This record gives sequence, structure tokens and C-alpha cells, in this order.
Amino acid sequence: MATPIIELKGITKQYDDGFVALTNINLTIEQGKFYSLLGPSGSGKTTILRIIAGFTNATQGQVLFNGKLINELPPNQRKVNTVFQNYALFPHLDVFDNVAFGLTLQKRPKKEIKRRVLDALKLVQLPGYANREISELSGGQQQRVAIARAIVNEPAVLLLDEPLSALDMKLRQDMQYELRELQQRLGITFIFVTHDQEEALAMSDEIFVMDNGKVLQSGTPVDIYDEPINHFVANFIGESNILPGKMLADYQVEFVGKSFECADGGMRANEAVEVVLRPEDLDITTADQGKLVVKVDTQLFRGDHFEIIGIDADGNEWLIHSTNPVRDGKEIGLTFEPEDIHVMRFGEKEADF
Ligand code: ATP
Repeated sequence: MATPIIELKGITKQYDDGFVALTNINLTIEQGKFYSLLGPSGSGKTTILRIIAGFTNATQGQVLFNGKLINELPPNQRKVNTVFQNYALFPHLDVFDNVAFGLTLQKRPKKEIKRRVLDALKLVQLPGYANREISELSGGQQQRVAIARAIVNEPAVLLLDEPLSALDMKLRQDMQYELRELQQRLGITFIFVTHDQEEALAMSDEIFVMDNGKVLQSGTPVDIYDEPINHFVANFIGESNILPGKMLADYQVEFVGKSFECADGGMRANEAVEVVLRPEDLDITTADQGKLVVKVDTQLFRGDHFEIIGIDADGNEWLIHSTNPVRDGKEIGLTFEPEDIHVMRFGEKEADF
């Protein structure tokens, strides 16, 4: 395998007030891929970006760039650029001067600056905008100027800190496509911070799911969605029904007092587990045909599906996606396939990297 472009090894960060924002972070970032750091507010995502950019130092651990230790390297000597949440554009400079800012500071020849700025504006699909004032641009256009300013320095890695959070939903979705497409076109490594799981699932080659200063799980969006490692990840990524259960034998699990065939094995018999069933994997049938029976409590129309809440005999709530509405109060049967049941070790907290 080629040397990873960035590695974080055993990174811990304690801020001056004593708060420990990161604990033993180990990440491997490969060249040319799109990564997301995904987690709730305060989980430590921005702190990781700041350590990679060199804006703050780790208390313990190593930051490697192309295999070399860079803990002490100042930010302007790292081949890394950051796009901030609020864009941090200079309002008194026009688009050209904003994008040219870094190159002007480096005293590059005028001709080279012009060529590189115009190229960068073309890449973010803003050709012809060079002489516009920042105040004349929409939020999405300002976002693109901020990206142009970051890529004009030809960084090996682009760090993006919640860059879409100020945009409305439609523009945000358009920008997701654009950013993904831009990353593939440039071949630059992107590390994208977000608390929005849909955004991370849609855009990333690999996601690091964070909570409370730790990386709980890393993997492709499909891996993380299909095989969440614990309750937090299953709950945070997508919608899920999570129930306590017990492993009876390999490929046999008990929950809601019944035994079901499943596709997971390798655990101790009688081991306490949690079972995840995604709402879209539950099919509705008649009560006498179902593996489970629930009584429909409420439902919401979501455009492309109905979201139904059903209650089983033990009082557990079930979230079900259905293409058709079902009458409130009706008893319905639920069916699912063995491979739709995902079994997690109970109380599993962290990935064993
Ligand atoms: P958000 O999505 O809200 O930006 P985040 O996941 O990016 O959150 P960080 O900004 O990395 O989280 O912050 C992680 C924790 O560290 C938070 O509890 C925050 O309050 C704390 N923190 C951040 N900067 C400092 C600082 N300079 N001094 C003390 N604590 C800090």
C-alpha cells in the first residue's frame, strides 16, 4: 500500500482549561479520497482539523504527512488548506483579490497569479466573476470563492469545516454534488467535517464517526450504515429500530421474546446483544402472516413514503417505512429477512483499530 498522505497516531488533545477534547485518535488518510468526520456538536471534529492544519498542537501523539512527522511544522508550511464554515472572505476585496490573497503574500509573479486565479475560478464554475464584489454574491457563490481561494495554492489536502451549513437545503444538496465532483476532478484529498449524516453518507469514500472525543467507527458509508458497531452509531446514522436481545447460537438471536434466524455469528451463546432493524427493511403483511405483530399508532407522510409508528405487545415502538398508508389502530404483521437483522455486542463502545 502507498504511504498514507496523513496519519494521526495516538492523538490526545487537552485544552488549557483542562478539557480533554480528543482521546487516542488514530486515523489513516489516503491520497485522493473524500473523507468525512461525522459527529454531533462538541465531538471533536474541528479540533482534529485544527491539529492537521497546525493551528493547534496535540497534547500527545504524532501527526505524519507522507510518512514524516510534522507536529512542529507551522501551518503555512503544510500542504494543507482550510475552508471555514463562515467562508472567512475579505469583504473589502473583490473575488479576484480574495482568491489571489495567498499568492500575493508569497509575491508570486503577476502573470502566474492571474493564470492560477482564473483557473481556480473556472474549476469552481465561477468564470467571469473575478471583478465582482463579495457582497454581490449569493451564499453558494461565496462558498465557491472560498473553495477557489483554498485550491489556488494547490494543497495536497483540503480541510472543509462544515462548509455547507449556512446554505439552504436545495443549494446544500447541489453543493454536495459539486464538491464531490470537484474532489474527483482535482484528485485532492478532502477531509470534510459535518454533523449531518446524510451529507456524509452521500459524499464520502470513508467516514469517521465521532462522539465525545473518540472515533467510534470508520468505514465506507455502506459499511457504516449496514454494520454499525454500537448503539450510538446505529442511532446517529440513519433511522433504526434498536432492541435488546440475546444470542442463542450462531445465526440465531432472540428479541421481543422470540427466536429469529439472522446472518451474524461468532458470539457466545446467551451473550447479551442489541439488534438493529432498519425501517425500510420491514415489510408489512397481515397480522397472521407476520414474524411480529404491531398496532399502528401514528403515521406521517414523507413524500416518497409513509413513516409508521407501530407498538408491539411488549410496548416497544417500531418505526416502519411503507409506500402505502395504513389505518391508525390496525394490527399489522411485520416480516424481514435474516440478513436484515444486524446484531451488535451489547455496550460495545469503540472500534478496535
Ligand atoms: P461543532 O460541530 O460544534 O463545531 P466539533 O465536533 O467540531 O463541534 P470541537 O470544536 O472540536 O467540536 O470541540 C470539541 C470540544 O472541545 C468541545 O466541547 C469544545 O467546547 C471544546 N473546545 C474547543 N476549543 C476549545 C478551547 N480553545 N478551549 C477549551 N475547550 C475547547
